[in-house]
Amino acid sequence: MSITYEQKAPAALEQLKLTTALAQLDSAAQQAAAQSWSYSHFLGYLLEAELQERHRRTVRLNLQFARFPYRKRLEDFDYAAQPTVDRRLIDELATCRFLHDGRSLVFLGPPGVGKTHLAIALGLLTAEAGHRVYFTTAIEMTRRLSKALAENKLHRELHNMTRPKLLIIDEVGYLQLDQTQASLFFQVISQRYDNNSAIILTSNKAFSDWAEVFAGDAIMASAALDRLLHRCTVINIRGESFRLKEKRQAARSTLNALVDTVVVSATTKEETTVT
Ligand code: ADP
Ligand code: MG
Repeated sequence: MSITYEQKAPAALEQLKLTTALAQLDSAAQQAAAQSWSYSHFLGYLLEAELQERHRRTVRLNLQFARFPYRKRLEDFDYAAQPTVDRRLIDELATCRFLHDGRSLVFLGPPGVGKTHLAIALGLLTAEAGHRVYFTTAIEMTRRLSKALAENKLHRELHNMTRPKLLIIDEVGYLQLDQTQASLFFQVISQRYDNNSAIILTSNKAFSDWAEVFAGDAIMASAALDRLLHRCTVINIRGESFRLKEKRQAARSTLNALVDTVVVSATTKEETTVT
């Protein structure tokens, strides 16, 4: 007796590694019969379940690979507290079009103004859109590359920094790079530029101070900036640290509460004296 197509279907799904479609085959077939689905409705239903599960798996892996130090979203960003950030520009960046154009983003500003927060939030959107993201700091990245260079594995490590759709380099300029680190940093910028791949970079240093960051090598700093700024959106955030502002507000409310208590108790005392 020959094998029926009904019998072939599960084996074929397994062979094609369509595991979610396989898991849902029986229940989908029953639903199709009960609700008189068309053949293409049935096929579309099964394939969509498979694709959705694959996307979920991809996002899970992307998030593991990204190594975000914490997860913050654009919805958590208080634009009222940071008026120098243009919400419309951030909303445009959230479409992830900059990735496909190979544009870079640079967030500049003093500590605590939300540079890392915004970089991570855009990184999360990128990972959720199904793309590889890698988050690192300038120091961590160059230390890893220097170590790889010493171990004759530079090619592989460079590949890790240049292959993801988006590379986030946080805290450029917090610590000065040595000559080797500066040259490795330059190689990453240059290779990503050649491949049209996006970078998000955050820094507390103005571009005019980059020579200092690049071990005093003004020529290398300007060559790196030249590539970085060729297709780039620079977001300059000014103002004071969000945490300090929050702390000051909390201190002010505690003080107000204290003053209220003192006033209330003084009034109560007065009232007591009068009666
Ligand atoms: P930076 O990288 O500029 O030094 P961060 O992005 O690390 O600053 O911000 C410091 C902390 O303050 C983080 O916890 C961040 O989520 C929070 N923060 C900063 N700005 C805002 C904002 N406008 N709205 C909400 N949280 C903010
Ligand atoms: Mg930061």
